[in-house]
Amino acid sequence: MTTDLPPPSHEPVLAESPAFPLRGRVTEIFSSLQGEGLYVGQRQIFVRLSGCPWRCRYCDTPGSLAHEGHPALTVDDVLQKIKDLQAVRSHSAVSVTGGEPLLQSDFLVDLLPAVQALGLRTYLETSATHPDRFRPLVPFCDVVAADIKLPSAIGRPLWAEHEEFLRLAGDKAFVKIVLTDQTTDDEFETAVHLLSRLTPPPPLVLQPVTPVADLESRLQEAGTVAAARIVPPAPARLVGFWEWARPRLPTVKLVSQMHPLWGLP
Ligand code: SF4
Repeated sequence: MTTDLPPPSHEPVLAESPAFPLRGRVTEIFSSLQGEGLYVGQRQIFVRLSGCPWRCRYCDTPGSLAHEGHPALTVDDVLQKIKDLQAVRSHSAVSVTGGEPLLQSDFLVDLLPAVQALGLRTYLETSATHPDRFRPLVPFCDVVAADIKLPSAIGRPLWAEHEEFLRLAGDKAFVKIVLTDQTTDDEFETAVHLLSRLTPPPPLVLQPVTPVADLESRLQEAGTVAAARIVPPAPARLVGFWEWARPRLPTVKLVSQMHPLWGLP
């Protein structure tokens, strides 16, 4: 497909600010069941913000990597949609996801406390980078679903950023690591050691990747690049990752991505 996205890069490409300071670029707002992590199966309202500096090979939201084509909404616009969805059925939290929502941290400083004022919990889904953007948001996040991005998935190590971020998140965070057949022992063990140094060590969810074409292939003109397939580790290796982490951390779970199986967004 054609795309106006910047090329895949191993360097962070911070998104341009939205057109107006008090507006956020929002890809979609919808009600669904949380399909990943510790809170799988909970009904949540999802607010998906556009923009992401990363290019994970397994990215399942390539349509939200850039701001272009997504409306600029005010906090009141978003709150009204949340109220409309909440009037239809009850939700346990509002998940702010992306893209990488922290690229629009100025918008979230206003949005997150306003969501809490509605009596809803806030759930931030993030790549656990940009700790400076995260710092002012910590009081307004009830749950932080923090991905650790392994070098095999993203092309460079992010250990220092991840560690600083997770120290800020404290006991609000659980960590997710997506495992592929290219995950190495070395990077996995580095990630587990990082988590074991934290106080308290956060719960860890290991998520075998849902098979998908490599992101770079998907961002190219159709047919110009042979799509490499991103697949999960073999079953024995998957269990081996769990067995290696289990004695080193208080909580380690193996949880697949469920919403594709349920046929939900
Ligand atoms: S951080 Fe998320 S949105 Fe960004 S490239 Fe990775 S999977 Fe996609």
